[in-house]
Amino acid sequence: MNRARLFVISAPSGCGKGTVLSRAFENRPVFYSVSYTTREKREGEEEGKQYHFIDRRRFEKMIEDRDLLEYARYVDNYYGTPKLPVVENLARGNDVILEIETEGAFQVKKSYPDAVLVFILPPSLEALYERLKARGTEDDATIRKRVAKALDEIKHSYRYDYAILNDDLDTAVKDLLEIVDSERNEQTALRHSTKEDDAVKLIEKVILDAKTSSLSNLEK
Ligand code: 5GP
Repeated sequence: MNRARLFVISAPSGCGKGTVLSRAFENRPVFYSVSYTTREKREGEEEGKQYHFIDRRRFEKMIEDRDLLEYARYVDNYYGTPKLPVVENLARGNDVILEIETEGAFQVKKSYPDAVLVFILPPSLEALYERLKARGTEDDATIRKRVAKALDEIKHSYRYDYAILNDDLDTAVKDLLEIVDSERNEQTALRHSTKEDDAVKLIEKVILDAKTSSLSNLEK
C-alpha cells in the first residue's frame, strides 16, 4: 500500500481553484481540511463547510494553544489549518488536501518535508481581477488588494514542487490528477521534469504579462 500523502494546493483567490479541486477530487477518498478564518462569511458559505468562521480572539487562542498546523494573515484576516484532523488522517492512511496560501504552505513544508506543494496559476492578472469582480463578493479596494497579493504569491510559486495553469478547466484538472497519481506512486522523477521544464516557464510568463498590466502597480 502507498503511504498517505499531504498535498498543499495554493492559488490566488479568484483563480478558480475551488472548481479545479472539487472536480479533481469528487470521486477520490481524500481528507479535505477545513480551515479556521476570521474573515466574514460570504453569501452561500456555510459554517464548517468552506471554513470554520471564528473571531480574532478565538483564533489567537488557537495560535497560543498550538492547535494550528500553520496559519497566516491574508488581506486583513487570519487563516489557519487545525492540526489534529490532519495528523489523524495521515496516521489512518488517508491522503490530505490543504487549500492554503503560500506563507502557510512553506510552514507546512518545514514540518512535513514530504508534503507536495502545487500552485495553480491564473492565466493573467486581468483574468483574476475580472473573476473577482464578477463574483461580486468584495468591494473594488479589497479586490485590488487581492490582485496585488496574487502577484506576490505568484512570485513565490517558484519554490513550489509544481505549477499548473488554469486557463482551461479540464486540462487543469487532468494536470492536477497526474501530479497526485505520480506522487502517490512515488514516481518522483516527474516532479523534477515538470518543475524545471514547464512550470518555471509558466510562472515566468504570468509574471512577465503582469509587468505590462495596468494592475501591476497596486497597493498591497
Ligand atoms: P478566501 O478568503 O478567498 O477564502 O481565501 C483567501 C486565501 O486564504 C486563499 O489563498 C486561501 O487558499 C487561503 N487560505 C484558506 N485557508 C487557509 C489556511 O488555513 N491557512 C492559510 N495559510 N491560508 C488559507
